Amino acid sequence: MTLHVPTLVLMLVVGFGLLTLLLQVAGRGGLNRSELRQLGWAAQALCVGFLCFALRPWLPGWLSLLGANLLLMAGLALFASAVCWHLLNRRLPAWHHWLLAAAALTVPAVLDAPTPMRAGVMSAAMAALLLPATAMALRRGWRCELSFRVVALMLLLACVALWLRVAYAAWWAGAGQAGAVDAAFWSSAIFMLAFMAVLAAGFGFVLAGFERMASQMRELASVDGLTGASNHNTAVSLLAHSLERGRREGQPVSFVMLDLDHFKRVNDRHGHVVGDNVLRAVAACARARLRGSDVLGRLGGEEFGLVLPATGAAGARHLAEQVRLAVEALELQGDGGQPLRVTLSAGVAEAAKTDTPETLMHLADKALYQAKQKGRNRVVVADDWMRNSTLQSVVG
Ligand code: GH3
Ligand code: MG
Ligand code: MG
Repeated sequence: MTLHVPTLVLMLVVGFGLLTLLLQVAGRGGLNRSELRQLGWAAQALCVGFLCFALRPWLPGWLSLLGANLLLMAGLALFASAVCWHLLNRRLPAWHHWLLAAAALTVPAVLDAPTPMRAGVMSAAMAALLLPATAMALRRGWRCELSFRVVALMLLLACVALWLRVAYAAWWAGAGQAGAVDAAFWSSAIFMLAFMAVLAAGFGFVLAGFERMASQMRELASVDGLTGASNHNTAVSLLAHSLERGRREGQPVSFVMLDLDHFKRVNDRHGHVVGDNVLRAVAACARARLRGSDVLGRLGGEEFGLVLPATGAAGARHLAEQVRLAVEALELQGDGGQPLRVTLSAGVAEAAKTDTPETLMHLADKALYQAKQKGRNRVVVADDWMRNSTLQSVVG
């Protein structure tokens, strides 16, 4: 089997064309991320660049070479820019633009040079453009989406192929005319391989974009946007998980229900914006006192729950007391900058063997109710009497 270079060029035109189409469709279908838009521009530039190569028999030679090399360089620079957006959420540094300008200037300079020299210089310029993005993808991309590893590896392959072509061109220049046809073929084949790797990196990039969107959706579905705490459903399922694990490992599990005192008055006097700030500050205050395995959930309105694995009632009461004191000490700003203080009440319940999340939360709620009854700004631990009356009300 022999490889036919014009066919390979056509394959790359079609490949980058399909990638462009895919990104257009994905953009319209809601995957409208800035880095994927840049990748779309890169794919477009690379598609038209290879089209210039494909049209070489019908275009003036200089025009085909000039257009193709400039477009391929622009495509690689846009690809690098998309990688930078994806990994660092910012533009490429200014020196990369200077690098692109310098690379572009080499194109007209070597247009009339012998083929080995032109191939070597163009490949070196393209590899230099791709190198920073490749290093970044290998260093940082390895720790983000799994699909981004494909991007990192394919960019590495592209860089290696381009540098290989530089070395090959140097050997070719030294070898002179002997075996020139073969050398021209291998030089083109290595070049095509480099851009096939860039194409594969492009498809990997699209997958990484989908992967990132899916994880952002998961986070949106499980986290409360205002406070960053787990939302109600997530907190309940994490409590269920902790209860199950506690039973298996013979460890206690406690649940604390926190409720801000007279929060309606805060909203009425200072407005909802201040109320929201208070909720954020209280959540941050509670979170700062939790262990890595504890969970802070926003159960609704101004009510929070703490899931505390490997913690008995005494430990949970101590933690709730610490949170209560810290919230009481918070110096907040009310409407017009006036000082604002808030307090909270807490109900603590330690799980019994047969407790479900619902019964345990119900019990903590009972204790919280008593804390409110007793005058607020205090912590109450559920006792046996509350447990029995909870069981009766759940069974009844
Ligand atoms: P208590 O001490 O008995 O708990 O009294 P309270 O005023 O805190 O309780 P109540 O349930 O009567 O009022 C809760 C208030 O919480 C009502 C609502 O205005 C406020 N609230 C609920 N969700 C939010 C929110 O997301 N943002 C703000 N700013 N306020 C909220
Ligand atoms: Mg309240
Ligand atoms: Mg409430």
